[in-house]
Amino acid sequence: MLNTQPCLSESRAGIYINGQWQSASEWLVVINPATEQALARVGAGNAATVKLAVDAASAAFPAWAQSTGATRARCLRAIASGVQTRRQRLIQLQSSNSGKPLSEAALDVDDVISTFEYYADLADTMDAQQDSNVALPSRDFTARLRREPCGVVGLIVPWNFPMVTTAWKLAPALAAGCSVVLKPSEVTPLPELELADIIAQSGLPAGVFNLVCGTGLAVGAPLTSDPRLAKVSFTGSNAVGVQVMQRAAETLKGVSLELGGKSSLLVLAEADLELAVELACAGAFFNAGQMCSATSRVLVAEELAEVFLQRLKARAQAIRVGDPFTAGVEMGPLVNRAQYQRVRQHIAAGLQAGAQLLCGGERPTELAQGYFLQPTIFTDVATDSALWREEIFGPVMCVRTFSSEDEAIALANDSEFGLVASVISRDQAAAERVANAMQAGLVWINAPQVIFVQAAWGGYKQSSIGRELGPWGLQAFQEIKHVIRAS
Ligand code: NAD
Repeated sequence: MLNTQPCLSESRAGIYINGQWQSASEWLVVINPATEQALARVGAGNAATVKLAVDAASAAFPAWAQSTGATRARCLRAIASGVQTRRQRLIQLQSSNSGKPLSEAALDVDDVISTFEYYADLADTMDAQQDSNVALPSRDFTARLRREPCGVVGLIVPWNFPMVTTAWKLAPALAAGCSVVLKPSEVTPLPELELADIIAQSGLPAGVFNLVCGTGLAVGAPLTSDPRLAKVSFTGSNAVGVQVMQRAAETLKGVSLELGGKSSLLVLAEADLELAVELACAGAFFNAGQMCSATSRVLVAEELAEVFLQRLKARAQAIRVGDPFTAGVEMGPLVNRAQYQRVRQHIAAGLQAGAQLLCGGERPTELAQGYFLQPTIFTDVATDSALWREEIFGPVMCVRTFSSEDEAIALANDSEFGLVASVISRDQAAAERVANAMQAGLVWINAPQVIFVQAAWGGYKQSSIGRELGPWGLQAFQEIKHVIRAS
């Protein structure tokens, strides 16, 4: 029985423009994926609403762009502290709207706090760094460097890490001095609405932050097309990323894109098997596998394969799937019916193509309601199959063996994506060698998928254009200006 969750069947404003919540004529129904029941209905915008939001952001931009780094830092710290104050409520909203266990939702909320604090610290250093001298090979000229905000920006985010993907864009954009229009995912707007409520009380001037809920076509597309935007920062699927880039190209605005992945976890011959099993399960089943960074391809040295697969199967079958609000549950439901059906179709197609099912593949028998799926592992997956090549975005792992380090590297890199990789080995030199050979933006060695706001996020090939987090995330929202004068 799923009876531990709060009832949130309510109407919520979903449009925040120029410091005011606005009424709406259209509504989104937001579902709890663990119960399939409506959680709330949320006001939704359209092209006219987007225009008003960009009007407000454009009007607010000049003054915000002129504000000091210290002022921006104060607002960012106020947001971080507001999130800290409402931590429990945000964790519950994150779990009830996206289905992730409370323990995972807590990691998300803490990540949001660190992101706003980190960019507050960077904003604090900006005043001293502005107008720094640039060394020139001439006595006749001197130069200074200015970093200026790029303008009004559109931020479009997906449903798998609500609030986190927003914070990774919003905190650096505000630190840089940009004004923003945020479009949350229509599937999981509730955590972002709470965040907007916190921002409304942070001292940020009206119009600097605006939010419009709605569908991709009604809100995302007109936002991307608005010629007044300097940039669109998008996280989501490759199919939509292409559309965003095409629309942005019409007015030659900049894009940052964080897209899909098909990443590998490599279990080298000297691996600690217990660690390998834990990290393989975490890499493929955390957030029910709905991670751009899921290591859904597992490559294991053939001499370890038999024992590794036995232990992997036992661990996957022991994963407790269920109500995300119940203590000890390790995996919640998929986010909605569409995603559930998509993943089930991938499993069916994999079976038809001859892949061997090691475990899972079905709804857990005790969970009749909700979009629950067992952790699923396939072996003998053909390298030209959809299961091996496409991002499935569900709890589905594919395992293959390799007989040499070179073969492992070639198998891992044989993908149109290149987001992350994990390498497990007690042989440090081998692990570092393989890490260096990965075509991926982030590689973990013998480590879970820890993310530090100081380290860049983003990938090679079709996984990303640009990088988020760290100073790179800030630079994505800045223009560089040199002023050269005769001395
Ligand atoms: P999606 O592409 O369907 O939607 C993402 C956002 O774009 C949503 O807000 C959606 O409403 C909006 N959108 C849809 N159509 C649009 C259009 N025509 N113009 C403008 N905006 C539009 O993605 P999703 O299903 O919400 O999220 C899953 C995808 O996100 C996966 O592919 C995953 O890999 C990717 N993702 C990537 C990262 C990363 O950092 N690389 C992180 C999280 C998720």
